[in-house]
Amino acid sequence: MLRSGIVGLPNVGKSTLFNALVANAKAEAANFPFCTIEPNVGVVAVPDPRLQVLATISQSAEIVPTRVEFVDIAGLVKGASKGEGLGNQFLANIREVDAIVHVVRCFDDDDIIHVSGSVDPGRDMEVINLELALADLSQIERRIERTRKTARNSKEAQVELAGLEKLLETLNNGEPARKTLLTEDEAAATQFLGLLTSKPVIYAANVAETELASGNEWVEEVKKIAQAEGAQVVVVSAQVEAELVELSPEERADYLASLGVTEGGLQSLIQATYDLLGLRTFFTTGPKETRAWTIHQGDKAPQAAGTIHTDFERGFIRAETVAYQDLVTTGSMTAAKERGLVRSEGKEYVVQEGDVMLFRFNV
Ligand code: GDP
Repeated sequence: MLRSGIVGLPNVGKSTLFNALVANAKAEAANFPFCTIEPNVGVVAVPDPRLQVLATISQSAEIVPTRVEFVDIAGLVKGASKGEGLGNQFLANIREVDAIVHVVRCFDDDDIIHVSGSVDPGRDMEVINLELALADLSQIERRIERTRKTARNSKEAQVELAGLEKLLETLNNGEPARKTLLTEDEAAATQFLGLLTSKPVIYAANVAETELASGNEWVEEVKKIAQAEGAQVVVVSAQVEAELVELSPEERADYLASLGVTEGGLQSLIQATYDLLGLRTFFTTGPKETRAWTIHQGDKAPQAAGTIHTDFERGFIRAETVAYQDLVTTGSMTAAKERGLVRSEGKEYVVQEGDVMLFRFNV
């Protein structure tokens, strides 16, 4: 399962957001196998309105959303790359995630101490990004030293070294590793490093409830910086999300309407994370259940089958496939078949977003 790490300075709202994510997942999907692996790791359902539509068509008894994992990574402070705070342990945690959600404080509250004394998203983002970059730099420098020795007699090491040197140059120029133009081989040879600044990032601008609809100048600042980096921004209010968890569905709607919004930002954040990871959804649907499955962009039909069961991948024969929109327009699988919209796809078929699939396989 794909994993996103929530990072940010202390007191910006990371835990509040994480707890809301987890509580929401529990509340929204009573049927789905929810688990908290560790206190700071939660499995979250990816909201998808198409599930309900398909479930109605198939008269499914159950709906099973697809999931992503979130990790609350506390302890990033200035100097973390030099071992301050939780230091290296914390950095090791980030190395394991697929994407980073960087929470930035865009709310004013005199009662909540800001570690640097004032609200200043630009400075905060720089502090965090600098720590991540410094950690990467020291890792790359150590690795270069080792690889130089082996590169004399090894072609593989030479490729790695070339990649490392490019990465070093990017970081020395003050840019994140993800901006480096590596060849395919260099990328493959350096991937094991799990560089922190090579991971895709979403900035979550955490605003006060009253500014969820309007935004504020801090949000604009975050957007400007993110745009220059090619990163995405989602405006959330961790506090609103924390409150929503406590309310009934009608109360929720009233509360959100009073704030002039339709959600507190959490759904957008989950969706944006899913998109950021280059993930695609395909569906299976029938009387038992309608279910969303996650694959990577570019995955072929057998790989999609493999997400359901390894036997499906091994014995894959073909996949009866209909586009979500075609199924909805025709109203039933039978009608879609009559109209010739259900295709029989083979091993080389690249699964498209929203495909509804039925796999044929040998056991
Ligand atoms: P973390 O250290 O980043 O995990 O921050 P927490 O989630 O523990 O939040 C720190 C404090 O800020 C808590 O007292 C939260 O209730 C408060 N807080 C979080 N988000 C907001 C917000 O949007 N507005 C206000 N006023 N307080 C918030």
